[in-house]
Amino acid sequence: MSISVVTYHYVREIKKSKYPNIKGLEFVEFKDQINYLVKNYEIISTEDLINEDFDNRKKNIILTFDDGLTDHYKYVYPFLKKKKISGSFYPGVESALHKSVLDVHKLQFIFEKVQDRKSLLSKIFKKIELKGINIDNVLKIQKQLAQTRDNRFNDNNTDIIRNLLQYILPIELSKSIINQLFKKHVNTNNKKFMKELYLAPKKIQEMIKNGMHFGAHGNKHVWLQYLDKEQQYSEISISKKFLKDNGVDDNYLSICYPFGSYNKTTIDVVKKLNFKIGYTTSDPKEKSDYKNLSLPRYDTNDFKNLY
Ligand SMILES: [Zn+2]
Repeated sequence: MSISVVTYHYVREIKKSKYPNIKGLEFVEFKDQINYLVKNYEIISTEDLINEDFDNRKKNIILTFDDGLTDHYKYVYPFLKKKKISGSFYPGVESALHKSVLDVHKLQFIFEKVQDRKSLLSKIFKKIELKGINIDNVLKIQKQLAQTRDNRFNDNNTDIIRNLLQYILPIELSKSIINQLFKKHVNTNNKKFMKELYLAPKKIQEMIKNGMHFGAHGNKHVWLQYLDKEQQYSEISISKKFLKDNGVDDNYLSICYPFGSYNKTTIDVVKKLNFKIGYTTSDPKEKSDYKNLSLPRYDTNDFKNLY
């Protein structure tokens, strides 16, 4: 069976936008990529996969879009609709309800503003030291972590910053550092920023009515593998309720694990909650243990230079 899955995040007219250095895919490149995929693959939907309604002998591909961005409504959806293609979309609940800007996105916009990652990293080190945390210890953990992570698309300093703020440092300290940097460098009205960044439920409902697939991406967009069973259940069931409230059919539940993070407990929870498909961020060359509940995905960058 040949099924590939590809991941997209930002798809917009980046160079023309307010944030010309955000890491994402230019809309014109997106269109080229989709045209390439149409020629070389059968683009199928998550529903087709659940129904096993696809031709095994062909090269099939599924398009997934993470984080419920307004980009997906403004650029992706009209284009896919015109081409009669169904995409699969994964919004976090709190961000879709415009309750908060996700830390992961704050960090991306900090990176957008601060190209000098070396000096950004040394500023972060200073903040960490002020809290009495030993930098050498932190860097030791970072080194071990770097060996287990897929760092195909970043430079070293960027990776270290990401690992520090998204994994190694205590969560409250990370939050406070991210908030300070976001305020200083991005300096925006958070309410307005959220509205511009995240798809609201009305738009989600419209996209579902017009053949797009929506699945779970957690409530607060956290690493599931570090939560206990109860916390994981809460994250995923809130996400499931959000989908149902917005018109997703109970028989076609899929989930995309935030940060690609999941473990055996996650698999038990999603099975119990009747999810049929789970998308990860692991490399398609690696084997996955839980079949349809841990499908690997390519990144859109893996398809660059092909067309
Ligand atoms: Zn995400």
